[in-house]
Amino acid sequence: MKIVIVGGVAGGMSAATRLRRLNETAEIIILEKGPYVSFANCGLPYYVAGEIEERSSLLVQTPEALQARFELDVRPYSEAVSIDASLKEVIVRTAEEEYTLSYDKLILSPGAKAFIPPAKGLEEAKNIFTLRSVPDVDAITDFMELYQPKKAVVIGAGFIGLEMAESLVHRGLDVTIIEKAPHVLPPLDEEMAAYITKELKANGVKLYTGLAAESFEEEGKVVVLENGERLESDMTLMSVGVKPETTLALTAGIETGVRGGIMVNEYYETSQKDIYAVGDAIVVKQQINGEDTMIALASPANRQGRQVADVISGLPRKNKGSIGTAIVRVFNQVAASTGLNERQLKMANEKFEIVHIQGKSHAGYYPNAGTILLKVLFNPENGKIYGAQAIGEDGVDKRIDIIATAIKAGMTIHDLPELEFTYAPPFGSAKDPVNMAGYAALNLIEGVSESIQWHELESKQKEGYLLLDVRNEGELEKNGRLKGALNIPLDQLRERLSEVPKDKPIIVSCHSGLRSYIAERILKQNEYKAKNLDGAFALYSTVRPEKVEK
Ligand code: FAD
Repeated sequence: MKIVIVGGVAGGMSAATRLRRLNETAEIIILEKGPYVSFANCGLPYYVAGEIEERSSLLVQTPEALQARFELDVRPYSEAVSIDASLKEVIVRTAEEEYTLSYDKLILSPGAKAFIPPAKGLEEAKNIFTLRSVPDVDAITDFMELYQPKKAVVIGAGFIGLEMAESLVHRGLDVTIIEKAPHVLPPLDEEMAAYITKELKANGVKLYTGLAAESFEEEGKVVVLENGERLESDMTLMSVGVKPETTLALTAGIETGVRGGIMVNEYYETSQKDIYAVGDAIVVKQQINGEDTMIALASPANRQGRQVADVISGLPRKNKGSIGTAIVRVFNQVAASTGLNERQLKMANEKFEIVHIQGKSHAGYYPNAGTILLKVLFNPENGKIYGAQAIGEDGVDKRIDIIATAIKAGMTIHDLPELEFTYAPPFGSAKDPVNMAGYAALNLIEGVSESIQWHELESKQKEGYLLLDVRNEGELEKNGRLKGALNIPLDQLRERLSEVPKDKPIIVSCHSGLRSYIAERILKQNEYKAKNLDGAFALYSTVRPEKVEK
């Protein structure tokens, strides 16, 4: 059997090596248009920062090593330019020649390309970069060596944009980020992303959100925003998202779907016989709601590469879909998410509830416990977990990985309190934030507690709700007060209950949500109508700092 693979990185090389492990006699040829295969694309921003010191660390494998260990015929600088599906042939172009390669099975893993929106002045600009490959990172680092830029503009505040913003700050540049969406990290919801905004600003990054870069002037040295503002830029990174690389697939008339991605069935078969596709270029099922989507992440690409090799080798394997689990470090904060966010659930008209839990990365009394803000979205009727997001300095990966695993395993919100984790003070808490999220969700489902979200506070106050803040006076002095709030510290609430008017519904807040929940329970059992401000002051003051009176 002769198997040709297009794309020699995550999906393509996973497929190639698995195929060899399953089939010692197949001829396996890998076509890669770039100079390198199996390179660490996820490591590129850290190389710019200098955290990965050696360029050679990015080159995980060489064609020679892959030939020696797996007997793979790896062909760098070889672009597959067209496919004749009826003849089962690929036309390959190198610097020297164009030749025809026949195949029995063809696997496409061509990845995605940086999306570059058309803009006036783009062609003339000499300092605009994208980041997908080692040549891209070489272009960036060579430019930095040669021109010693002082000011950088990063267009797009997604994962790569933020990683690069941090890397450029580490290299001593003055960085400005422009994001068209209303907030940074569009996969996260607004209040969670607000923590990353705060962190970026604390590290000197300037930020424009809800604004697009419209054009470039003076050969790219000036970036003009859609409001007419002009930003000086010695170098600009364009990271506004990716598009599936489907140029080749289209030459074979392969069917495409949502956002132009390659359509495959659950066996990774495209609409053309004996042509398979995996990775960033394919449309996948969002496992949570079954909808077609595109998820450009390394873990699905690697899994799919292995699975397509299994399928071709006759093993019982199916693509079950992806949920999209991602993480990014932004200076001292980490943001991670899995599944669907609030915006996506609203658009899909799903019924959902939210809990925000502020917990600790490990026992609070043991040194260096960091705060984790965990948000979980779930269906209050059947308990289905739709998604989760977390922010913090430490332990964010663990919590999101647990919830991602729970979602994949089909667990519900009812299962979260049941999960048992390793615990000793340096490692966790006897009640982990994931357990706590489950407890809080059950309280909502069973009517023990009711909550409102941060964005509902003002309208509720206008409706006549009284905001009761149960923090201590010292905290109010230090961190600020919520507008229009009555302040009674939790520990005095029982004896000062007469100060709380009975004729008004109450919203209770504290710092992080635990004391307000206790206060809510006291009030409820004294015939008050009370709801908890989910996430409390800590969250509200981060997403709406202007509403805090100092
Ligand atoms: P790729 O790994 O991109 O490989 C596709 C290859 O196909 C490319 O080398 C391309 O040159 C080649 N190719 C395309 N067309 C042809 C053709 N016609 N002929 C020959 N060769 C062709 N994901 C994460 O989960 N976590 C991260 O931290 C993370 N960080 C990232 C940071 C950066 C800077 C980048 C660029 C990506 C990052 N990703 C991350 C995404 C992750 O790298 C991709 O999801 C994954 O590599 C996709 O695998 P793939 O095989 O589909 O495509």
